Amino acid sequence: MAKEEEKPKVKLPDSEYQGVWIFIEQRNGKITPVSLELLGEGRKLADKLGVELSGVLLGYKVGHLVDTLYQYGADTVYLIDDPVLEQYRSEAYQVGVVDVVKKYKPEILLFGATVIGRDLASTVATELGTGLTADTTRLDIDMKNRLLEASRPAMGGNIMATILCKEKRPQMASVRPKVFKAIKPVEGRKGKLIEETINLNEEDLKTKVIEVIQEVSDKIRLGDADIIVAGGKGLQDEKGFQLIRDLAKELGAAVGASRDAVEAGWAEHSEQVGQTGTTVAPKLYFAIGISGAVQHTVGMENSEIVVAINRDPNAQIFEKCTYGIVGDAFEIVPKFIEEFKKLAKKSGEVNNG
Ligand SMILES: Cc1cc2nc3c(=O)[nH]c(=O)nc-3n(C[C@H](O)[C@H](O)[C@H](O)COP(=O)(O)OP(=O)(O)OC[C@H]3O[C@@H](n4cnc5c(N)ncnc54)[C@H](O)[C@@H]3O)c2cc1C
Repeated sequence: MAKEEEKPKVKLPDSEYQGVWIFIEQRNGKITPVSLELLGEGRKLADKLGVELSGVLLGYKVGHLVDTLYQYGADTVYLIDDPVLEQYRSEAYQVGVVDVVKKYKPEILLFGATVIGRDLASTVATELGTGLTADTTRLDIDMKNRLLEASRPAMGGNIMATILCKEKRPQMASVRPKVFKAIKPVEGRKGKLIEETINLNEEDLKTKVIEVIQEVSDKIRLGDADIIVAGGKGLQDEKGFQLIRDLAKELGAAVGASRDAVEAGWAEHSEQVGQTGTTVAPKLYFAIGISGAVQHTVGMENSEIVVAINRDPNAQIFEKCTYGIVGDAFEIVPKFIEEFKKLAKKSGEVNNG
């Protein structure tokens, strides 16, 4: 009889630090998608380590979010609900997170690499005197040594560096949004709630939030878009790239670009998709006149459906697409725009007034 394959065994914890924690970022009482993505990835790490997965949730009147966290994989939720935490302030949030970490001692603590997550993770790491790998794109466990392997592009994106925090605990990392997938929520899944208080009053805080002004922009942000129309060097010039913007407008989509298109000055850096740009995972991604270099595809390969248009039948992008069209973008894209216009008219979505 064949010998059963031996699974690598994880080293047992040799310190009092145990468990995987995710900082649950919420804004205006809504959980940010990256927190759910991290619960999905954290679940895998926790299962490998044979420990609990926990969410640490701070805010004011946010208790209604706890059940959602269980459904997305958390075994335990540490909740601090207090008026001083109504709006994000690094000072208050840092005190809250640091206090619970010191009390319950997780071995891994992850944050989304959002504006808030980046700010908070660095202040928490400093206060705890531990290491932080920022902007991670891959996480794993070194089973032999029970260490978090946090990988991220380094040296201008030329190499992937795997960073370990061997001596200090917790091991901390911030993770780019859209790199990981949230699990399908399990209806009715329950966990344990641990409520903590914060040792702070409004008078203790140096910063006051006077007013919150929401930025209004008619541009659809790459990271939030369900549909992205991305163009590359194949569009030839700024005028050619306008086709990408026209198709995006027709579809209510965000505009994306390869680095070469950005470097040519046809698109902004904020529109760049890829290793040194934004990581995206829309429902539909058009890659038009983009060759499909790995530095581009790492930023879009989690898209649900990819439509590639390229005149070179051997272009690498065809290995990453759901539908591939071999042909000239200048012939195909105007036809797409025309057809989508007709469809929109038919479904009454065009405002002819
Ligand atoms: C450290 C590092 C980091 C990088 N980071 C990024 C990153 O974040 N994002 C990124 O995109 N790149 C990045 N790059 C660059 C990457 O390696 C590629 O050079 C880049 O993605 C190529 O852009 P492109 O596909 O637009 O251009 P090209 O490679 O020149 O491809 C143009 C494509 O258009 C096709 N084409 C030409 N004319 C037409 C036409 N009329 N109709 C249809 N198709 C046509 C061609 O067949 C070709 O496949 C990075 C590189 C390095 C070294």
